[in-house]
Amino acid sequence: AREKLVQSERLSVAGQLAAGVGHEINNPLAFVTGNLHVALEQLSVAARELGPAVAERLKDTVHALEDARRGAERIRTIVKDLRTLARADETRLGPVDVHAALEFSVSLAMPHLRHRARVDRRYGVVPPVRANEAKLGQVFLNLLVNAAQAIPEGDVTHHRVTLVTRREGERVVVEVRDTGVGMTPEVLARIFEPFFTTKAQGEGTGLGLSICLGIIHSMEGELAVESEPGRGSTFRVVLPVSESLESLAVPTPARTMADVQ
Ligand code: ADP
Ligand code: MG
Repeated sequence: AREKLVQSERLSVAGQLAAGVGHEINNPLAFVTGNLHVALEQLSVAARELGPAVAERLKDTVHALEDARRGAERIRTIVKDLRTLARADETRLGPVDVHAALEFSVSLAMPHLRHRARVDRRYGVVPPVRANEAKLGQVFLNLLVNAAQAIPEGDVTHHRVTLVTRREGERVVVEVRDTGVGMTPEVLARIFEPFFTTKAQGEGTGLGLSICLGIIHSMEGELAVESEPGRGSTFRVVLPVSESLESLAVPTPARTMADVQ
């Protein structure tokens, strides 16, 4: 059965709280990272100067400190994502060409997509949306990277990421569809929770979709998803048509490419 979820109105309180805490973590974290760096440098100098016997005895300590550094690096990534989440609604809005934003994001996501899927475009005739170009690009990038990560590597001819755009009245719809693993209803119910991830340690922070949701809501848009385990997923972004360009826009044909699909 095809499971459908239309996302709720606001970010969870937990997400907002976490964003505040994340902000406070940054300064002390800089000390941790800086001191780890210095300690590792000093150990490597000591190992060099005092010879192989000492180097051997220091090995475990070096490994432990390197682990600590990786941990600190991961915290830094999480804090960065949290701050993006917190800033999602400080967004300046203007007319944005969704196709330009999509293409830019596709080019950034290419390293992830290249060995996994073909990218198909089914672009309709759509007017500019009222959005923030950088933030919208970030949403598309997150969705594209998720799509790529849902597809196993090495079977490029069998997998597709499809980008669909169409106009629906005073809204523009953008879909990112993939033929990846899809999601069970249990996973689907939780994907917008901050820190929810099914990915291996270090691969995802679980904040991507929380960030997307925050950004899209700040633009008075909607983010919805449909998914079927084993078949793939569709993420749908709906944004208002930009009013400031409305008068300049070319009249939309009664039927567009997207309508006949
Ligand atoms: P992350 O990518 O760091 O795990 P996200 O918030 O971007 O965090 O996504 C949360 C979870 O939602 C993922 O771990 C995955 O389980 C699921 N998910 C998101 N996008 C897709 C997709 N296109 N196909 C399958 N599962 C997805
Ligand atoms: Mg993600």
